[in-house]
Amino acid sequence: ATQPYDSGNIFAKILRGEIPSNKVYEDDFALAFHDIAPQAPVHILVIPKGAYVAWDDFSARAPAEEIAGFVRAVGHVAREHGLVEPGYRLLANLGGDGGQEVPHLHVHLFAGRPLGRMIG
Ligand code: 5GP
Repeated sequence: ATQPYDSGNIFAKILRGEIPSNKVYEDDFALAFHDIAPQAPVHILVIPKGAYVAWDDFSARAPAEEIAGFVRAVGHVAREHGLVEPGYRLLANLGGDGGQEVPHLHVHLFAGRPLGRMIG
């Protein structure tokens, strides 16, 4: 099972407006903002607004409209940044072996250069 949600995590603080972020998109279900330490010319984080640690609790507990909203937000950001044609990469680090550092579900969107082949 997923660990309990820690409402003190950094992305929860960003969602509450307690710390600033460089926002690129927001709707009822999701927030997207630039990563503070970009690993590519475009490095955006997309997070659901609900309190979910990782894929496990999100997929099992989130209402379908929140799941759909999150998925659509990722697609919207990619489209609005003109990334559909050149292409981009989505990545989710999940749990300890996944290297997840912030315990609020997030998807990394990388783009802006050829990203190379990366599996595992
Ligand atoms: P993870 O390893 O959990 O998948 O990635 C967390 C990401 O959050 C990292 O890429 C890190 O640079 C980013 N990050 C950590 N703290 C902050 C912050 O306060 N603001 C922003 N915009 N990004 C952050």
